[in-house]
Amino acid sequence: MTDSHDLGQGDLEHGALGQAGGSWSPLAGSAQAVVLDILVHGARPRTELAARLGLSGPSLTRITKPLLESGLLVERASLAPSGSGRPSVPLDLDPDAHHFVGVKLTRDRLFVVVTDQRGRVLGEHDEPLPDPSPAAVVGQVTAVVAAARARDDRIRAVGVTVGGQAGDRAHVRHAPFLGWDDVPLADLLTAPTGLPTWVENDVRALTQAEHWFGEGRGLRSFALVTIGAGVGLGLVAAGEVLGGAHSSAGRIGHQRIVVPVPVPVPVPAPTDASAPTCDLGHHDCAGAFLTVAAVEAAAVRALGRPVAYDDLLALAADGHEAARVVVATAADVLGQLIAGVLNVLDPEVVLLSGEGVRLATVGGAAVDAAIERGVHPTAPPPRLLVQEFHFDEWARGAAAVAIQMHALGR
Ligand SMILES: [Zn+2]
Repeated sequence: MTDSHDLGQGDLEHGALGQAGGSWSPLAGSAQAVVLDILVHGARPRTELAARLGLSGPSLTRITKPLLESGLLVERASLAPSGSGRPSVPLDLDPDAHHFVGVKLTRDRLFVVVTDQRGRVLGEHDEPLPDPSPAAVVGQVTAVVAAARARDDRIRAVGVTVGGQAGDRAHVRHAPFLGWDDVPLADLLTAPTGLPTWVENDVRALTQAEHWFGEGRGLRSFALVTIGAGVGLGLVAAGEVLGGAHSSAGRIGHQRIVVPVPVPVPVPAPTDASAPTCDLGHHDCAGAFLTVAAVEAAAVRALGRPVAYDDLLALAADGHEAARVVVATAADVLGQLIAGVLNVLDPEVVLLSGEGVRLATVGGAAVDAAIERGVHPTAPPPRLLVQEFHFDEWARGAAAVAIQMHALGR
């Protein structure tokens, strides 16, 4: 980062930092770098900020003076004097200056959170989504945003996420759970909500939230694998969330895997109609084994009766043999996927998340065994972190997208 771009006084008068009006013009260059660093990492002494961003002391003072005058940055209580004898006054940011709405859409439900600028959830709400048509969803999201704004006048932007493919933070290209193709959702929502609105794939949004406000903070590389209605992968490399050339990075739901043996029923020939398949009819992809629905379908075959996902995990944890085999089979597939990620990215950490993530704990031994089979013998043991998951995490991810776009001044 260079110190080549100044933040002129004109920017301030234009309301870049005019929080009363709620507007925020783009911060450019070093001013943006300063604000982002403090937003993500918290209060920092001036000397540390200058060193991290490659700025001289006078440059940092010049850049932060208008940010402090406008109230965007604030000074915290001094730390103890350092070696030089002068107290170092940390710069921080008021996380409550701006609030954000995050919305996660599923096939039949809508989840909403309001967060502060550091992704802390201030309020949450969910409701049925009776009609998944774009027009009905736009109407429903508009109503929940209006309700949030009626209670909170600091809401600045909205993020919406879906399971599926999103592009340019504006379009839903393909959302199989909703039956959508090429819906310009951001445009459809910006006018009725009166707020800048952004659209993103749900896993990539969750990755953004982890990168800025979660266990991925401060890491240059990590992978986030989610288990739930689908199987997802988010990637951070060189300090950035990867989107890919076609906004398709991490689309691993149909990644071919080696069908684990033993499976709950004798391994059928690939043409056997009774064999497990994904929604595209594959017998040998991750989605045929690893989604919540796939695991529940395998449980019916193995136990001869319907068993809910969480009940199956509980049975397996208690040593029920058929349940244990179902879980171990899915966990083997999870381990194969993780091994592939380790081989390609060599991330510092692999985070495991999603509403079905408990599989990674109950089936931990099978996950570990599949990883060991799939990576180079000299590879160091990976750092896997199984996160406790609440469904609101998905909506918080959506809010993180809005926070990011707002902070970047888009
Ligand atoms: Zn498939």
